[in-house]
Amino acid sequence: MSRTVYVNGTYLPEEDAKISIFDRGFLMADGVYEVTSVLGGKLIDFAGHCKRLARSLSELDMAAPATDDELLAIHRELVAVNGVTDGMVYLQITRGAPGDRDFVFPDPATTPPTLVLFTQSRPGLAGHPAAATGMKVISIPDIRWGRRDIKTVQLLYPSMGKMMARKAGCDDAWMVEDGFVTEGTSNNTYIVRGNRIVTRHLSSDILQGITRAAVLRLAAEARMEVEERPFTIEEAKAADEAFFTSASAFVMPVVEIDGAALGDGTPGPVTARLRDIYLDEMRKSAI
Ligand code: PMP
Repeated sequence: MSRTVYVNGTYLPEEDAKISIFDRGFLMADGVYEVTSVLGGKLIDFAGHCKRLARSLSELDMAAPATDDELLAIHRELVAVNGVTDGMVYLQITRGAPGDRDFVFPDPATTPPTLVLFTQSRPGLAGHPAAATGMKVISIPDIRWGRRDIKTVQLLYPSMGKMMARKAGCDDAWMVEDGFVTEGTSNNTYIVRGNRIVTRHLSSDILQGITRAAVLRLAAEARMEVEERPFTIEEAKAADEAFFTSASAFVMPVVEIDGAALGDGTPGPVTARLRDIYLDEMRKSAI
């Protein structure tokens, strides 16, 4: 069955949704995005996504096409009309379609931003089998641009990284720069030693994960120790546990890095506990 999607003020069937060939998202990856999870028909951490979206737009000097309340209404409408119980809402904003190709930003007064949203239904999203078995990752060099704190649609290298992982029989790739792990292709990364969780500090080197912020807050509330600093692949291989976080994978255990099993090769207790706490709290505060 065809989905209903949203394009610039209109709800329409996906096959009727059209974007200009001059759209700067298409020509120049001049766009930002957010992915908000849906559990039980409700949006997870919507406020967090709005806040980061506003920051991404402001860092790129891009106009916001709608208020947070308007965005919430569109998210809810799409979830309702498409009957999404578990899944995601994808939102993308680009600098619009100036009707020509030019490196210079178009005047926002004459070129409004493009706003697109669509849903992806994923029944049982929170019950992913890998949450029980863990994922395998490889390490690859991080050759992305230097403003990874902005959530842009330039996802070619992360996509290539996923393919490198797949070719190696693994699930994801952890990117390494100057000897230290930055992040996964689409997630923030963590290692655990005893009761201490280590994750890279925020900077322009990584995306400020919405899930990361919630998990670190909940970990502190649960009296777990958190250390925000870079770590190496060698340190990760020697850790008791490892995991990654993202809005759609939540807290996902990692059991193998570059072919080396972590601990006994099964997800550890700290990761499992954090996943439970995170899902519990997020379901409670979903809107
Ligand atoms: N880092 C990168 C590079 C990502 O693409 C994502 C997924 N958006 C994340 C981290 C995790 O962010 P979030 O928890 O907000 O999904």
